[in-house]
Amino acid sequence: MALVKRGVQVHSTQCSACISGLESTDHLFLRCPFAVDLWNRLWNWCGITPMIFSSIKEMLNYIATTGQCPKRRTTLLSIICGALWGMWRARIDRIFNSKLNSPELVFEGVRALVHAWIKHRHRKGNFVWGNGLNLLSTLCNL
Ligand SMILES: [Zn+2]
Repeated sequence: MALVKRGVQVHSTQCSACISGLESTDHLFLRCPFAVDLWNRLWNWCGITPMIFSSIKEMLNYIATTGQCPKRRTTLLSIICGALWGMWRARIDRIFNSKLNSPELVFEGVRALVHAWIKHRHRKGNFVWGNGLNLLSTLCNL
């Protein structure tokens, strides 16, 4: 939709994941069933109640102002950036490489990416987590 607004001709404006919505930023990253599935996996992984946002801007504003722990906000922002990157890469794979990635596969990629980001930026080093561990609480309790 952003390209159409700029006068670029595109093959289709439909979402490449669900084929039922216009591929706007908010649809692709928030409303598409693919995105909803991925976000639910990520919120569950973080051990927090699933959140629904109407726009990326609303999501980022919420993260910037929520809670008292700056580590939690930074970690949430890392997770969100990782998720947006993972969804964008999955979209590119669908459109240009005819490769269909499941939300589960994208989730595993986002989790590995965010783990690497946090592990290599974390001052205390030696940061590990296992399945079911509440990442956000762990970081805030260090
Ligand atoms: Zn869609």
